[in-house]
Amino acid sequence: MKDQIKELYVGVDVGGTKIQASLITGDGSVLASNRRSTPRNCPSEQTIDTIEESIHELLRFQNQSLDQLCGVGVAVPGVVCSGTGNVVVTPNMNLSGVELGRVMRERLGGVRVEVGNDCNLGALGECWLGSGRQSEMMVGIFVGTGIGAGIVKDHRLVLGAGQVAGEIGHIVLQLPCESWRSQLRLKKGDRKRIMRDFSRRVVGVRKVKLAKKSATSSMGLVQCGCGNYGCFESLASRSAIERYIREAISCGAKSSIADYNGGKLDVIKSGSIAKALKSGDEVVTVIVNYAATVIGHACLSVRHLLDPDVIMLGGGVIEACQKYMMPVIESVIASDRLLSVSSSRRILVSSLGDSAVVLGAVAFVRGAESSTFDQICESIPKYPHILMLADEVIHIDDVAYMSDILILSDGVIHARPRTPKKDPDGFRFKDIETVTQGGTDLLILATPAAEKTTLSEKCRDYLYRRGIEYRILQLREAVQLYNNFNGRHSAVFHFMEVKD
Ligand SMILES: [Zn+2]
Repeated sequence: MKDQIKELYVGVDVGGTKIQASLITGDGSVLASNRRSTPRNCPSEQTIDTIEESIHELLRFQNQSLDQLCGVGVAVPGVVCSGTGNVVVTPNMNLSGVELGRVMRERLGGVRVEVGNDCNLGALGECWLGSGRQSEMMVGIFVGTGIGAGIVKDHRLVLGAGQVAGEIGHIVLQLPCESWRSQLRLKKGDRKRIMRDFSRRVVGVRKVKLAKKSATSSMGLVQCGCGNYGCFESLASRSAIERYIREAISCGAKSSIADYNGGKLDVIKSGSIAKALKSGDEVVTVIVNYAATVIGHACLSVRHLLDPDVIMLGGGVIEACQKYMMPVIESVIASDRLLSVSSSRRILVSSLGDSAVVLGAVAFVRGAESSTFDQICESIPKYPHILMLADEVIHIDDVAYMSDILILSDGVIHARPRTPKKDPDGFRFKDIETVTQGGTDLLILATPAAEKTTLSEKCRDYLYRRGIEYRILQLREAVQLYNNFNGRHSAVFHFMEVKD
């Protein structure tokens, strides 16, 4: 049997704008990545060439060869028959109808290749290493140019009879049909009289609000990329947010968004939207709040339909705007009259960011070869053993450390000398962000001043939203917990500065 640590896989995320290939170990450490632009307006052959080249180049730079790979997982944005690896349809790129699994296997000299939908695999990645690790059932919703989702139950993807489950972006949230009221051609007066009589008889004195006449045909709604009307994606994706902003500006509303987006409005990046939010731009704030409210209601529907213990939100829009969007989304969910008391149900954000899809692609190719995904989830990196022979010094592999170190979730050690005057005695957000990259169950924070140290609100919020537990401990206790903890873990060892 091969040594777990040396098992190597490649995960490929084929996106509409870029193709990312990453070299990943069997226990989920991303060793290196190669990114290149997705060729546009070209035959599918050219896209396949680019995928193949990105894998070869990645291996070449890492001094690895194809025969060292245990498998390649490929994620594409579209409908995929994951049993065969055939791409059924990719609306925004040119791989529709391509037998991608077979073609890639041939091109890669017979290496095992599995192909899946990008959002499905992103959700699987989050379940393996990220925010869904402890969940029994997780729905991962990715909000970017479009909106997609993946459903994972007991560590397995729920694909549906036709392998298209999880197309949450195309659930209809605004009905593209005439209301019964307008179909009956009821005049305003009739409606008022009816409602008055009704409220007297049935509702007593309670005031009944008349619904405003709504958009009565598909003409009033924007057509979604899928061809239908009223889809979730057409209301709350980045494309929808961009459309709303352009419309508001063309109607005369004042916004500074162009200043943050290189003076242009044709494509508005998530990062530019975040900057405008930070500056307090009213148009962008109102529009992003609206999109977040829509997302909140979609999450509510997901809860009512599936009751997952974790709904994980990811994708470019959430990554960039989570600080503004999450409180709105949470307040919509908290206002739910039906299930608002389910405190064990959580709304989390992605822990893996850009790596979720490539990691999920690897989980997928691994899951396809082993009978159960649970074993994969249980496999953890080889963590260093820490020795503490004297106070204020720790030893790892014969190296003594007396100033701050970070031990990442894959066991790699980063020394981080502090500048006493610049750095406060507490734990820095940046360090916490760094050590928890790649997914962790427990973050151990070691400091001689454990009893009087607390984390900043920003740090606590970051960990809470990713479902990461943390403990602040004295050095000796921290060493003990670090060595004995069975799951994925990371640590920051913080030593007192010698005051001069
Ligand atoms: Zn749609």
